Amino acid sequence: MQYVSTRAAASAAASSSQQFSDILLGGLAVDGGLFLPASYPQVTGAELDAWRQLSYADLAYEILKKFATDIPDADLRALTAKTYTKEVYKNARQGEKASQITPLRVLEEGANGTKLVLQALSNGPTLAFKDMAMQLLGNLFEYALAKQNAQLNIFGATSGDTGSAAEYAMRGKKGIRVFMLSPHKKMSAFQTAQMFSLQDPNIFNIAIEGVFDDAQDMVKAVSNDLPFKAQQKIGTVNSINWARVVAQVVYYFRGYLSATTSNDQKVSFTVPSGNFGNICAGHIARMMGLPIAKLVAATNENDVLDEFFRTGVYRVRKSAETYHTSSPSMDISKASNFERFIYDLVGRDGDRTRALFQKVETHGGFDLSGKPGADGDEFKQVAKYGFKSGKSTHEDRLNTIRDVADDYGIVIDTHTADGIKVARENLEPGVTMIVLETALAAKFNETILDALGEDAERPEGFENIEDLPQKFVVMPPDVEKMKAYIAANTGL
Ligand SMILES: *Cc1c(COP(=O)(O)O)cnc(C)c1O
Repeated sequence: MQYVSTRAAASAAASSSQQFSDILLGGLAVDGGLFLPASYPQVTGAELDAWRQLSYADLAYEILKKFATDIPDADLRALTAKTYTKEVYKNARQGEKASQITPLRVLEEGANGTKLVLQALSNGPTLAFKDMAMQLLGNLFEYALAKQNAQLNIFGATSGDTGSAAEYAMRGKKGIRVFMLSPHKKMSAFQTAQMFSLQDPNIFNIAIEGVFDDAQDMVKAVSNDLPFKAQQKIGTVNSINWARVVAQVVYYFRGYLSATTSNDQKVSFTVPSGNFGNICAGHIARMMGLPIAKLVAATNENDVLDEFFRTGVYRVRKSAETYHTSSPSMDISKASNFERFIYDLVGRDGDRTRALFQKVETHGGFDLSGKPGADGDEFKQVAKYGFKSGKSTHEDRLNTIRDVADDYGIVIDTHTADGIKVARENLEPGVTMIVLETALAAKFNETILDALGEDAERPEGFENIEDLPQKFVVMPPDVEKMKAYIAANTGL
């Protein structure tokens, strides 16, 4: 399987293509684009039938095999077997089987054949769906580094979910260190405890005196020092990493196959969306031939994606226009994986994609509505890809959390609430709607308390997490001090 950049010039596409292992440890392509397969591998009805009975790990193996053709089959099977175990996804709730990894729960069955189903993706170590991909990434990185006898120092900034998922995936892994910056005293007590209570010698938590943007700026400044970056073997695990996206393709297959008994049955997915990583994996599953009816993007007040799917106008927000909401992991100003979909939408034309995303830099967006003065008219093709969208507000979130607790006896988190709200607006007769549960409620307890007047239940082992000893350093937003700290701890 060859990979191409979404910005590759038509003439360069063939010669610049790379294999899965080549792009595994990297981020952007050199031309600034994102990697995608040169063509999507296809699944047959016979394959889907055979896969219906597979365990999650075996299904992950079958799907990844189509994308990671340069990893020997036996190695890939060992990697997926080690990643997707009931011991790792042990936070399944009552009524869910941990061994299913992403168990389904039917919330509602209408007389007209409509079903509303929740797919749990948050039973991993950090109680958010990011574990689904990051746990695989940890094992893939360790495997690839051992082969090359190399090491990698992951350097990033987090406001919560991504940083903790990365640390729990990389802890104790040979050849890997994680330097994770977070804004000092700005994360919730639960999130802080989750990260800072890790005592592994390869995990370095750095609380920056400032806000998230200060931490993010430090990461950019250090990453722009290319000699330092090379010498210190610095890499990232951000949401554009291709292996993260592909790991997420698996649970769309699992969800579809578990919800159906034949491939003629129709299933749609509603996905709480921020950086468009999760739903992009749904798009890829659909392009591979999984019979997905609709892919519904649910946003919060930061409705960059909803605006595009309603109007064809992609308009990124300035930081000052980005709302801090009660579904904070979807508080984005632009959707960093969106370029992957646009590349497909404009007929896989790298020159066009490059021009459009350059316009995002210079003019803050682009317009594919086809109206006079627009940059194109491809918006009329969007329906063909199954995309729909909707948006939810803080008020909606509180109401949905209450309704779902009352009607189905289950407490959902704020991001999942955005998903359920939008899913209900997009139900169709005869179609099963699966909502992806992207976090467990315990992670966002402040809002649960507001909505229900009581605390969210914490999975076993998390009860007194705030009382555990914490390991972290506090540093000012000083780039030179940061470099010195990294160098002292890598020994390079
Ligand atoms: C990251 C995250 C999202 C958004 O996912 P994207 O892949 O960025 O669209 C939604 N919900 C939760 C809980 C998250 O952590």
